[in-house]
Amino acid sequence: AKHNGRNRYARFTQEMQAHSTRVLLIENALRSALENDEFTLHYQPQFCLANKKLVAAEALLRWNSVSLGKISPAEFIPIAEDSGQIVAIGEWVIKESIRQIQQWKELGYPALKVAINLSYAQFQEPNLAPFITDTLQAHQVSPKLLELELTERIAMDDPESATDVINTFHKLGLETSIDDFGTGYSSLSYLQKLPVYKLKVDQSFIRNMINDKNNLAIVSAIIALAKKLGMSTIAEGVETLEQLEKITALGCDEVQGYLLGHPVPPDEFEQHHFSHFSD
Ligand code: C2E
Ligand code: CA
Ligand code: CA
Ligand code: CA
Repeated sequence: AKHNGRNRYARFTQEMQAHSTRVLLIENALRSALENDEFTLHYQPQFCLANKKLVAAEALLRWNSVSLGKISPAEFIPIAEDSGQIVAIGEWVIKESIRQIQQWKELGYPALKVAINLSYAQFQEPNLAPFITDTLQAHQVSPKLLELELTERIAMDDPESATDVINTFHKLGLETSIDDFGTGYSSLSYLQKLPVYKLKVDQSFIRNMINDKNNLAIVSAIIALAKKLGMSTIAEGVETLEQLEKITALGCDEVQGYLLGHPVPPDEFEQHHFSHFSD
């Protein structure tokens, strides 16, 4: 047993080393990613459940590294957050999404709101709000067309300063939503004070709600809570008709998920979701 235990320990150490090597490789490759133009944004549609219309698109970061190939944001975002690189990357996301909104406007498509994801470190930068406003102004894009997705951690870690920042956004005309809602530790008393307009029901609840009564109860409770607080709701990660029917019956406002559209590059998004406007 002792021998076995030592082996397992050795293997564990090896795995840890392999893991930290990969982290270092990614951190290094990220250093030149911006200047090499290795990032792109994909867009995933969000629809209104009442009238089935396209209401917004979530911008999701994609990275094709010259040295490492394609890497998922689920892997590189946490690394960029730990290394501090997320602030510069996040500024690129803000600029690129606003540039895209402007381009869609110039192409004559109907104004579509774009939602971007913000990391904790970005949210703590005092420069964030002015940076967003300046970029919007430079591209002559209305703040109404940009939505900010914050995680529960951002909103609840230091709720008082979060309330201040969100209030600033709100005054600037920028709407905010809380992403992955239900997975964190929201304080209900603060939630009620935040001028947040939308809760995104985390996809883990959507995935499990058909087979698991507890998950269904959570989704139902989140939607009811949001309604009471005057907030709107969006279900993310909807993959099946059954899930779509369920969230519709529960009174959810919007939907996003593979069932209705994957995240795709802008040209594909135009073909799939704007095509009926151009003919
Ligand atoms: P998220 O913000 O919760 O984004 C939703 C994720 O779920 C996306 O993964 C999306 O592609 C995926 N998804 C959408 N519909 C479905 C579905 O029906 N089924 C399943 N299984 N998945 C679905 P993605 O693009 O890999 O992004 C992962 C995470 O990386 C995001 O989760 C977000 O936390 C982070 N991220 C992505 N782009 C950015 C960014 O520009 N800035 C920051 N700070 N984080 C980002
Ligand atoms: Ca998101
Ligand atoms: Ca989410
Ligand atoms: Ca997430």
